[in-house]
Order: sequence, then structure tokens, then C-alpha cells
Amino acid sequence: MERDALGEIRRYLLARRGVGGEVAYRMADAARPAEESRKSAREIVMITSPALRSEGAAVGQASLFGEPSRRRGIDLSGFDLAALDAVVSKCERCGLSGGRTRTVFGSGNPSSKIVFVGEAPGREEDLQGLPFVGRAGQLLTKMLAAIGFAREDVYIANILKCRPPGNREPQEDEMAACEPYLARQLELIRPVMICALGRIAAHGLLKKTTALGILRQGMHYYNEIPVAVTYHPAALLRNPNLKRDAWEDLKTMRKLYDETAREGE
Ligand code: SF4
Repeated sequence: MERDALGEIRRYLLARRGVGGEVAYRMADAARPAEESRKSAREIVMITSPALRSEGAAVGQASLFGEPSRRRGIDLSGFDLAALDAVVSKCERCGLSGGRTRTVFGSGNPSSKIVFVGEAPGREEDLQGLPFVGRAGQLLTKMLAAIGFAREDVYIANILKCRPPGNREPQEDEMAACEPYLARQLELIRPVMICALGRIAAHGLLKKTTALGILRQGMHYYNEIPVAVTYHPAALLRNPNLKRDAWEDLKTMRKLYDETAREGE
């Protein structure tokens, strides 16, 4: 069954801020082709949300869609998750391959309807070959439990599969080189929702450079999959004052997830 993208936008915005959603719902013309209506609704959301309006045309012009993995310099269309993991484990597409102990492909339930995407492996992840196993990972597990997800029931991955030295921020060329792997993972898992954990994950998925505070309040899509944006658990460890906002993000995300997952059944 085709998802009601306009309904998702409306519910998300009404649940979150009460802005934009009603206008988007009213103005979207159901008689137009679905893709045109969806695009139109998103543009309206950008205009009517006060938080997003300050971003101006740059946000409105940003691409809301990713590209299939095969159009990013490497054709992975024939690979399942196990085969993809094997390719990643030998990957030398960027300079991070030289400093890694292990690649960190992703973990969790490959049939999950929700995927959490972080930035890159840290020291513990690099040693164990698993995402989010350090202190930030323990906090993520608690965050998931707080909204009713067992960690093993969701899928968790990162933008980068190899650890940047000293946990520095990923560079653009590294993110571009690694992008096809996450794209293929998402093609295979086909979640109904993605949660971007932190600025880097959001920028990598959405191809935007918008501030995290703005992205948290907006509605986003990756290949037509709704993307919710919240803080990276590491940021919450550094600044516990952010936990209240993160909790609101998670509750909103869970609500939208429940509605979206129900509609897709
Ligand atoms: S970060 Fe990604 S692209 Fe770079 S070497 Fe590791 S797996 Fe390959």
C-alpha cells in the first residue's frame, strides 16, 4: 500500500510543533500526482514552519532524496547484507582503511522497520567491530528502551564504517566514499523510518548543512523514507542539559513510527 506522505508530514508537524502541518494538508492537492503533491507539501512545510523559514531558500532547494547506491561510483545492487559486509571488511576506498582495527558494518535486526544511523565508529567500536558499544552506545540502548525498542529489534549503522583517527569528524571525501554501503544497507532493510543521530549523520543522509537545531524540528526524507533527527548520544553525555529535548524528539519519533508502521501493514 502506498504511504500517505502528506499525512505523515501533517501528523509529524502537528505532533511536534503544531505549525505547517495543517497548512500543508489543506494546500496539497490530492488530485495531483502523488509525487507532485508530496513535493508541493514539503515546500509548503518549509515556508510555513517558522523555525525552517529562517533557513530561507537554501533549505527549500536542498535535495530531499538520496540516490540509489549504484549511482555513486560502485554498483552494489547485487549484494545482500552478508556479501556487503564482506566487501566493506576489505574496503580501501578512503584513507581510513589504513588506521582501522575492524570495520563496523552495522548490527541488529535486518528486518527492522526502523534504522538508527550514527556518525562513525569510536575506539571501542573499532576494536569490537560493532556500532555503539562504548559509553554512547550504552546510553543509546537506554534511549531505545525508554521508547519501547529492544536494541536487538532495531538496526544500527553509521555513516562511516571505519574509525577516523582520534575520533575526529568525518571528512567529506570519506563520507562520499562510504556512502554506497549505507545506501545499499537501507535499500535492503527497507525501513519505514530512519533516525539520524547527530549532525554528521543528518548531513550525510540528507545532503544538507543545516544546523542540527533546525533539522530536529523539520520533516525530512531519504529516498522517500521519513527521517527523524535528534542528538547523538555522545553529545548528551557531554551536555546532559540536552537530554530533555532529546526525550521529546524520541517520543515524537516513536509516535510517528507507530503510525507509519501501521499504515504500511
Ligand atoms: S570508511 Fe568506508 S569507504 Fe573508507 S575505507 Fe572504511 S569502509 Fe571504505
